Amino acid sequence: MVRSGSFDVVILGAGAAGLFCGITAAKRGLRVLVLEKSNKVGKKILMSGGGRCNFTNLHISSDNFVSSNPHFCKSALARYTQWDFIEMVERYKVEYEERKHGQLFCVKSAKDILGMLLSECAAYSVQIETHIEVDLLEKIKSSTCNSFKLSVSQSNQGVNNCELLGKSVVVATGALSVPTLGGSGKGYDIANQFGLNVLPRNAGLVPLMFEGVMKELCEALSGVSLEVEVSCNGKLFLEKMLFTHRGISGPAILQISNYWKPGCSVEINLLPLQDATQMLQLLKKDQPSSMLRTVLKPYLPKALISKLQQLWWSDLENCSLAGFTNNRLDSIGKRLNRWVLKPSASEGYRTAEVTLGGVDTNELSSQTMESKRQSSLFFIGEVVDVAGHLGGFNFQWAWSSGYAAGLAV
Ligand SMILES: Cc1cc2nc3c(=O)[nH]c(=O)nc-3n(C[C@H](O)[C@H](O)[C@H](O)COP(=O)(O)OP(=O)(O)OC[C@H]3O[C@@H](n4cnc5c(N)ncnc54)[C@H](O)[C@@H]3O)c2cc1C
Repeated sequence: MVRSGSFDVVILGAGAAGLFCGITAAKRGLRVLVLEKSNKVGKKILMSGGGRCNFTNLHISSDNFVSSNPHFCKSALARYTQWDFIEMVERYKVEYEERKHGQLFCVKSAKDILGMLLSECAAYSVQIETHIEVDLLEKIKSSTCNSFKLSVSQSNQGVNNCELLGKSVVVATGALSVPTLGGSGKGYDIANQFGLNVLPRNAGLVPLMFEGVMKELCEALSGVSLEVEVSCNGKLFLEKMLFTHRGISGPAILQISNYWKPGCSVEINLLPLQDATQMLQLLKKDQPSSMLRTVLKPYLPKALISKLQQLWWSDLENCSLAGFTNNRLDSIGKRLNRWVLKPSASEGYRTAEVTLGGVDTNELSSQTMESKRQSSLFFIGEVVDVAGHLGGFNFQWAWSSGYAAGLAV
C-alpha cells in the first residue's frame, strides 16, 4: 500500500518506458516510486508481438520514427541502443529469435521481458504501486523545498488517499492507443497543466477501413493475404497485406497508416516484382487462348483475381486473352501495379498500436527528456511526439527515452 513519503523520483505509468526509467534511476541509488493506474503493470508488453513481444530491432535509425522533429530521437537512441537492450536480454537468458527485417521476438513469451524488468526493479528496490489515481500534481517552490507534491488515491484495498513528494516527476503514462491496455490522455493533461505544447494526435499502426463497394470486396476477401508494395505521401513499404471484414490490414497497411491522413489515397502494387503491363502483353502472345483469370493464378490469390475481374474486366470475363485489346491489357496492367484506394477512416485508437503526435519535442531536451519550461518534469515513451514503425521500434524508443530520463532525474 502506498504511504505518504518523499522520493527522489516519482514515475507515472508502469509500462515499458516507466519501468525502464525506474530501473535506470534506481541503479544510481535514487529512491524511486512508480505509480500505475491499472491493476497490472506492463499490460502492453504482455500483449505485444502476438504475445512474443517484438522488443527491439537490429536496424534502428531515426528513419524508423515519425515525429515533427525527425532528429529529436537520435540522441536517446544513440545513448541506449538495441545492442544494450539485447545484452540485458541475454544476461537474463531470455530466448529470442530474429524474424524478417531484423525484428527480435521472444521465443517463449512476452512474460520473459516483463519478468526481466520486474526482476531488475526488485534488485534495485524500485517501489511499484498499482490501482493509483493521481488527483493532483503541483510544483512546490520554497527556499527549503523544490519538489512536486502529488495527491493520489489507491483503490484496491478500500480507498487510500495520501500525499507524496518527488524531487522529479517522470510522465510515462503512454498514449491513447488501446484504452483497455491502459491507453490514457493523462500525460497530455499534465503537459497542458505545465504549459507545454501538445501536438494533434492520431491513431498509428492501425488497419484502414472502407465504405461501399470496397468494404464489400474486403469483406468477401477477409482472411486473404499477399505481399504488396504500398505507398502514401512519399513513403513506401514492401510487406504483407491482409483483407479484413472492415478493410485492409497486415504489416504493409499498419506501416503506411503512420503516413496516411483522412481524405488521402493509398497506392497498392499487387505485383511488386513485375511490370504487369509488360507481363500481360507477353502472356497474351504466349497463351492467347487462356483466360486472364487463369494466367494470373501463379501471381495472385484466386479469390482476389475473381474480385478484380468483377471490378476491371467483367465485360470480358468469358474472353480469352486474344479478345483483349492491347490498350485494355495496358490499363489492367497499370491498375495491378497501382491500385489507388481511398480509405474512409482508420480503425482508430481501439486497435492502433501507437499514437502519432503528442508532447511537442520542442518542449523537451533531447538529451534528458526534461521539460524546458518546468525543471525536474520529464516526459518519456509514447506520450512524446515520437512514434516508431512496426518492428520493435516503439519499445526501443521506450527503453532509450526511459534511460535518458533515468540518468537525468
Ligand atoms: C497490441 C499492441 C501490440 C504492440 N506490439 C508491439 C511490439 O511487438 N513491439 C513494439 O516495439 N511495440 C509494440 N507496441 C507498441 C508499444 O506497446 C508501445 O509503444 C509502448 O508500450 C509504449 O510504452 P510506454 O511506456 O510509453 O506506454 P505504455 O506501455 O502504454 O505504458 C503506460 C502505462 O501508464 C499507465 N497509465 C496511464 N494513465 C495513467 C495514470 N493516469 N496514472 C498512472 N498510470 C497511468 C498505463 O496503464 C500503462 O501501464 C504494441 C502496442 C499494442 C497496443
